[in-house]
Amino acid sequence: MSVLVYLENWEGKFKKNTWEAALYASKTAEMLGTEAIGVTIGDLEDDASKAGQFGINKVLSLKGDDFRQFDANAFGAALNEVAEAQGADTIILSGTFNAKALAPSLAIYAEAALLTNVTALPLSADPFTVKRGVFSSKGFNDLSASASKRVVVFVPNSIGLEESEGGAEVSETSASTGDAPRVSVQEVDRVKGKIPLPEAERVVSGGRGLKGPENWGMLEELAEVLDAGTACSKPVSDMDWRPHSEHVGQTGIAIKPNLYVAIGISGAIQHLAGVSASNTIVVINKDEEAPFFKAADFGIVGDAFEVVPKLTEAIKKFKANN
Ligand SMILES: Cc1cc2nc3c(=O)[nH]c(=O)nc-3n(C[C@H](O)[C@H](O)[C@H](O)COP(=O)(O)OP(=O)(O)OC[C@H]3O[C@@H](n4cnc5c(N)ncnc54)[C@H](O)[C@@H]3O)c2cc1C
Repeated sequence: MSVLVYLENWEGKFKKNTWEAALYASKTAEMLGTEAIGVTIGDLEDDASKAGQFGINKVLSLKGDDFRQFDANAFGAALNEVAEAQGADTIILSGTFNAKALAPSLAIYAEAALLTNVTALPLSADPFTVKRGVFSSKGFNDLSASASKRVVVFVPNSIGLEESEGGAEVSETSASTGDAPRVSVQEVDRVKGKIPLPEAERVVSGGRGLKGPENWGMLEELAEVLDAGTACSKPVSDMDWRPHSEHVGQTGIAIKPNLYVAIGISGAIQHLAGVSASNTIVVINKDEEAPFFKAADFGIVGDAFEVVPKLTEAIKKFKANN
């Protein structure tokens, strides 16, 4: 039995998430004593053979009219068909927006256990056990799947990237979308901004402590020097200081960047629910009793309007000298 990995592309281009999924799959396959096979869906601009640098030797490419637009049901049906043809019992996806919609449909077609919110490589092969974030990432549980097939959706940024030499062999394959009900996309409203939040390695986020939308310039400047995406707390987007696409937390986007800088955010439990999985958290708040400091790796007690410009200058100087 092999491992299949969905190598997601965005308008033909691969992102870091794709290669992390390839690495996750090849390490899982190593643990299970089998091989990992990649699958791409849709027309490609980038070269899928790069999956070889992350331990995948074979990539199958599904193309055609049925696969021009993302459709969770259709992609689920087709991926299941490929998995069956390849004798795969473990299917790996990186938990992007699309993959989170695709995974349940795939699990139903495959009659597989669905293991979501996985935060590390599988803990054991038999029984197949994974570590998952639960209760909005406030806790973890180890979950074993007794089903003969499983769909594993891991949180992006869980294992990072390790590149090696190699190139995968890419060949075309075919699969049908069966009788899956199809979705037709009428209009696409793109999120504006330089770095989409779910993919950002670093995120600079602002709360009500910034007083008003006119003060976001300093936050954006810090984000620029850090090459970071920008986020905000719920009240900030509710008041239209920032777009809703930047709202993180329990009712917003859940993220797991390497660095999360929270400026003028109190650290309410609903906010932490979406950001506490970040690898390093830096909090800037003028109230030393702010709850966010309990979740912080580094904290600065001070007025954001003084601290943030100084921090930006210090980072600029550091970058210029290194
Ligand atoms: C069902 C439900 C779901 C929710 N979902 C979410 C969610 O998804 N995301 C979310 O964010 N919230 C969510 N909330 C709201 C949440 O409970 C908090 O009200 C919200 O996170 C507070 O936002 P804030 O920290 O920006 O504002 P505040 O709580 O007002 O905190 C502002 C902070 O800024 C600090 N500050 C003020 N001036 C300065 C300064 N000059 N320099 C530095 N620091 C300063 C203050 O000390 C304070 O800690 C939810 C609430 C409910 C009930």
